[in-house]
This record gives sequence, C-alpha cells and structure tokens, in this order.
Amino acid sequence: MRLKSFIEVDENSDFPLENIPFGIGDIPGSGPRICTRIGDTVIDLNALSRMGYFDNLGRDEAIFESSTLNAFIAKGRPFTCRVRSIIMESFMVGGAAETEQVILREMALYHFEQVKMLMPLHIGDYTDFYSSIEHATNVGKMLRDPENALLPNWKHIPVGYHGRASSIIASGASVHRPQGQTKPADKTSPVFGPSAQLDFELETAFVIGKETSLGHPVPITSTDEYIFGMLLFNDLSARDIQSWEYVPLGPFLSKNFASVVSPWVVTIEALQPFRVQGPVQEPEVLPYLRIAGKNNYDLNLEVLIQPEGKQEIVVCQSNFKYMYWSMNQQLAHHTVNGCNIRVGDLYASGTISGPEPGSYGSMLELSWKGTQPIELSDGSKRTFIQDNDTVIIRGYCKNENLRIGFGEARVTILPAIS
Ligand code: MN
Repeated sequence: MRLKSFIEVDENSDFPLENIPFGIGDIPGSGPRICTRIGDTVIDLNALSRMGYFDNLGRDEAIFESSTLNAFIAKGRPFTCRVRSIIMESFMVGGAAETEQVILREMALYHFEQVKMLMPLHIGDYTDFYSSIEHATNVGKMLRDPENALLPNWKHIPVGYHGRASSIIASGASVHRPQGQTKPADKTSPVFGPSAQLDFELETAFVIGKETSLGHPVPITSTDEYIFGMLLFNDLSARDIQSWEYVPLGPFLSKNFASVVSPWVVTIEALQPFRVQGPVQEPEVLPYLRIAGKNNYDLNLEVLIQPEGKQEIVVCQSNFKYMYWSMNQQLAHHTVNGCNIRVGDLYASGTISGPEPGSYGSMLELSWKGTQPIELSDGSKRTFIQDNDTVIIRGYCKNENLRIGFGEARVTILPAIS
C-alpha cells in the first residue's frame, strides 16, 4: 500500500512520499538550504524548521541552513530518520490542514525547475572500487589476457584505489575534455593532446554517515550502521591516458579531472524494500569479509547519450544487483587495517556492468575497445564520447507497489581548452 501525499506525485516519479531523499538546493532569495523532494516539488527544510515542524527534535536553528549535508548527517541516524518520518507524516493526505497547506506552498514549496540543485556533500575522501565481476572480466579480456581475465587477487579482495575528492561535481555541470600524455600504439614515444578516448563509468556511490577513529576497523556485521545513503556516480575516464599511465600504481590523471554525482542522496532506509541476494562468492572469502543475507540492491541503472540538440538515446541498461562485492564488504575491507572514515566520505562502486553486451557500463566495453561503434539517435556513431555530447545516468528501484528513484547525474563534455 503506497503512501499518498497532498502533493501530486506521478506514478513514475522517482520521488514518492516513501523516498524523502536529501540534497542542497539553491532556494530563490535564500541561498543553499537542505531540501527534499516529493514528486516535482522541492521542499525547503529550513523553512519547515522555522515553521516549527522539527521543534520536537531540539532547537538547532542552523542545521538546515547549510551548503552541505555533512553536519545534518553527522547528527546521526535517529535524528535523520525522525526528520524523514516527520516529513512523511506532514505531507500525507490529511497531514496538514488546508490553511496550513496554503502557508506551506507560500513558504517552503518550489517547483523543481525553480531550484538549482548543488553539490550535496563536502567530500573529504573518495575511494573507487572495481567490484563488478563482469566489468573486471571484460577489461581484463580487452587489455590483458582473455584466458586469465581476472587477476589472482580479484575474488579475494574488493580491489579499489584512493581517488580525488576536489573534482567531484554535481549533475548539470559541463566539463572540458582533458588533455594529457598518451602513447599511441604506432608511436615509439608519448604525445600530448586532448584525450581521444573519453569515457563514462556507470557507478553508484555510498555516503558515510558515521565516523570511526583511527585504528578501529568496522566489523562487517556493523557496516550497515555507517552507510547513510546512495548516489548515482559517473566516473569520467580518459582511456588513452589511463592505459599509458596506470602501471604500476593505477589510474591517476585519467580519472581525477572530474566525476559527477546526482544531487539527491537517497537514504539507505528508503532502499530497504529492494534488498536482494548478491552473486555466490566462490572461493569463499576470508572471515572478515563474510556476511549472510541480502546485501545487494535491485537498482535499475541506465546511461543515455544526447548529441548536441538531438534526442537522448539509451546506450546501457544495467543493475546494481550484479555487483560481486557488496557495499558492506567494501567498507569492512577499507577499514580492516585501521583506516578511519568520516561523515561525507564517498565510496564508489566501480563500473557496474551486467552479463549482456547492452548492460556494459562504459563505452570501452560497449564498443569493445573501439571496434564496435554504437549508433545514436541522429545516426552518428560513437566509440567514445565526443565534444558537446551530454551523458546522463538514471537509476531507480521498482517493485509492484513502489518506485524509489535517484533522478539523474548529467554532464556535458566541452572541447578541450587549447
Ligand atoms: Mn571507476
């Protein structure tokens, strides 16, 4: 049975009353405020707070008047869950009297097109994993050895690397094509110039909701307590720069020029109806990575490319449920050596490819290293992303009763700065 709001919510909306995600909206005349969204309506939580909606949670005037979610998330799960349930109760049919609804519409509600959504978090540290077995297998086949696509450590360790936090940007931004050093196969020495193999990586990311102190691992059975919510994540990658620079320490300038997040952090509570069992892990993992139960999420993901002035076209449909390593395992592994974590840290999944060619989560795989071009809506072909293309990632969970969505992470690629 779905909850019904007095705010209109389309059947296919990502934002029913059961979602109540959190983001930072640039409220007209006020500036950055913590917001949520129901249907097409953005709600200024600072305005709700001033109207007294959260008075029972203790006075903290400034908590919603913020340009990031960090301090709000750091108040802890009992607080953020209570805020969500107050919003659900208040915006249910019958939750507010007609006169109150008029005041709400005047003081706190905006059509989503009136509110520019901003970067939701201050990200202290960002890590990117490599946890899709289909992606790791495809890349291993293409770039190394088809017979031994997975390296010997892959099924024992959630492989990852520390990324760059400063260049993570909110959906809607434009990014100039990166320049860098590459070594074309037919040349004996490297050359410098704009990347010719700019790619997306279809990923999700989870946000840390509770800090640890240095030296204290998070046991795998406690990892859920530390995961506040999830975002969509596009880990833009320059494949030609990557293939020249990545040995022996992994990606560097091929990945750190920009990554794009969706603006709404969907809480882990909203995603609970969509928990599913992940793939069987064989061989069995070490005890510190063992966890029973449904630890993956049935989260539909798609990537679209829109050439300038043309229709967007779906180039990939995948699902988070395919992930070999769960977020719980990633977090247990990340902290097992005593590495501490902080509120707002971001942990990206790694490219999420599925088993079918249409579910591969990067152009590298979809065009099979540039050998099989994809045709777009305007008849043009792509092996990688071209200048003035817009790349859009969308994601939603759906069952018979409910759809909980993420909105989108969108970025336009501009020509390299010469
Ligand atoms: Mn990645």
